[in-house]
Amino acid sequence: MKTVADLHMHTNHSDGTLNPTELARLARAQNVDAVALTDHDTVTGIKELVEETNRLGLEAIAGVELSANFHPGTLHILGYGFDPEGPIRGKLERFQKAREERNPRILEKLKALGMPLTLEEVQEIAQAKGQVGRPHIARALEAKGYVKSYKEAFDKYLTKGAPAYVSKAAWSAEECIDMLHESGGVAVVAHPVQMKLQGMELRTKIGELAGLGLDGLEVVHPDHKPEDRETFKQLAGEFGLLTTGGSDFHGDHKPGIQLGQGRPPYEFLERLRERIKERKGN
Ligand code: AMP
Ligand code: ZN
Ligand code: FE
Ligand code: FE
Repeated sequence: MKTVADLHMHTNHSDGTLNPTELARLARAQNVDAVALTDHDTVTGIKELVEETNRLGLEAIAGVELSANFHPGTLHILGYGFDPEGPIRGKLERFQKAREERNPRILEKLKALGMPLTLEEVQEIAQAKGQVGRPHIARALEAKGYVKSYKEAFDKYLTKGAPAYVSKAAWSAEECIDMLHESGGVAVVAHPVQMKLQGMELRTKIGELAGLGLDGLEVVHPDHKPEDRETFKQLAGEFGLLTTGGSDFHGDHKPGIQLGQGRPPYEFLERLRERIKERKGN
């Protein structure tokens, strides 16, 4: 019987450290029955992942994680169930371009702070295969001896408000949700606790997103305490949203997190699949 579906994880096509084949093998080793690869702004790792999950007899579903414009916290939107070789590829180009424009600006700021790095060095040191982002720059700063740790790189230089921080062009939640629907997928708010809203403000925002066609809320996530899970589960019920869960596994970039952590129930995936089918029928 299938019991665990981990629907949130990253590979080296974005800011995880394993490749898709290694990730599939780790899922098997951790007794995870189904996986969704949700790299930031890219779907290029999915083909390799599916080849390996098919070999291993695991279930896999296509995924992606987009960052939407938001205050006061962050709003990440997970997409599921689209064809990874289909129109979504072209639609993701502008998200990727925003990163390409931002990375050199971060490096300029670091240079001005006395820590020169080239983009090639970042790619080389971080072994990035696809989307390059702040986690790779943090690793490169560490490797060059400019900081003692990955965390120090973020806290001192790269986090929002720090001296080498550069904001990235992002799209509204509505644009992200529409883009996912137009690609044949569904849209789920990742780790809603990171929106940093409570009470009525949280309820109003979730209601608004539901009105825009949002399909679900990620309830099981390592950042969620039991009371957070309860809050988001209730809100999902209230607004007719699905519930999902995942580990947000990043390999060595988040060493405290195991693949399959939280053991998100397989039923979440069954309902998600029904919703994907309904949307495709429309
Ligand atoms: P980017 O997409 O380039 O803006 O990088 C975002 C990623 O950086 C997130 O997915 C996290 O993995 C990581 N990150 C963001 N803020 C921090 C932080 N304060 N400490 C450690 N990692 C962080
Ligand atoms: Zn990430
Ligand atoms: Fe996220
Ligand atoms: Fe993530």
